Amino acid sequence: MRTTSRHRSLTRMVAAIGAVSLVAACSGTGGTGGGDATSYPDKNITIVVPFSAGGPTDTVTRMLAEPMAKKLGAKIVVQNVEGAGGTIGAGEVARADADGYTVLMHHIGMSTAPALYKKLGYEPTKDFEPVGLVTEVPMTVVARKDFAPATFQDLVTHVKANANRVTLANAGIGAASHLCGLLFQDAVGVKLQEVPYEGTGPALTDLVGGQVDFMCDQTTNTSGQISSGKVKAYAVTTPERVKSLPDLPTTAESGLPQLQVSVWHGLYVPAGTPQEIVQKLSDALKAALADQGVIDQMAKLGTTPVQAADATPQAHRAHLEEQLGTWAKIIADAGVEAS
Ligand code: ASP
Repeated sequence: MRTTSRHRSLTRMVAAIGAVSLVAACSGTGGTGGGDATSYPDKNITIVVPFSAGGPTDTVTRMLAEPMAKKLGAKIVVQNVEGAGGTIGAGEVARADADGYTVLMHHIGMSTAPALYKKLGYEPTKDFEPVGLVTEVPMTVVARKDFAPATFQDLVTHVKANANRVTLANAGIGAASHLCGLLFQDAVGVKLQEVPYEGTGPALTDLVGGQVDFMCDQTTNTSGQISSGKVKAYAVTTPERVKSLPDLPTTAESGLPQLQVSVWHGLYVPAGTPQEIVQKLSDALKAALADQGVIDQMAKLGTTPVQAADATPQAHRAHLEEQLGTWAKIIADAGVEAS
């Protein structure tokens, strides 16, 4: 990834991210393609996660797979197709049969990739049918446990003084952690050595192992490491503190209000999937998000399911379109691109 004029434009990125919300609106989804809607599902369904196992997207998907499978009456297999900030897995689903048996769980990266990648191989609004929004997850700034800075303010001072030595992990170019890392560097005014992984899973493993210094990632996977003391936590990137991590200050409280970002997730099928199948999947998603076990698990990991009205194709499409516009402008202004 290359960046130019980052200071000016990434500050606007923060403002835009801060303004993002899950707003329901009406817009139709198409869908005339293959697949027998009446008998659906009569075989296993695969949900592709475009990041490695053990990361936030994977965690959210595995949480929902069982209650969704119960509602659908079919087995759900979760498959990790990682690489290139989620674009490899998303591309595979875009090219899959539009029969409802190949589903994609993706995050905010669906709306940032078209602006970041010159050759993407898919168009989010043309090549997919949105099924429903899932959740929006706060991010945390965490470090290896023996990293010197004790507080977020110390971290800022430390990276300014040691910019050429500090390493910043992310889950791939265009991943949410990558964008959060860019925001951090922009807000602080430093350029650090970035270390990309194929998902949060391996990035966090290296952070716990002390191979990289710090990173920014979702509470779904950092919460456990924070509470077990395997990583050092500095701040949450939301305007309010996160209930499950009450002692962790916000970035705003810590003097960096520009650093605010949370990560939304959504479920997709290839374009052309029959409307009845999309609806069956959306109903299963709604049922899973209302499952008390899912609600409790999400709460422990610092997040909540979206309202039922947002777990619909219409709300998801509206949100995706709004986010594509928002990020296209922010990323173009920032001069950021994946190479
Ligand atoms: N949390 C990752 C990101 O930074 C992706 C993942 O592994 O789920 O986008």
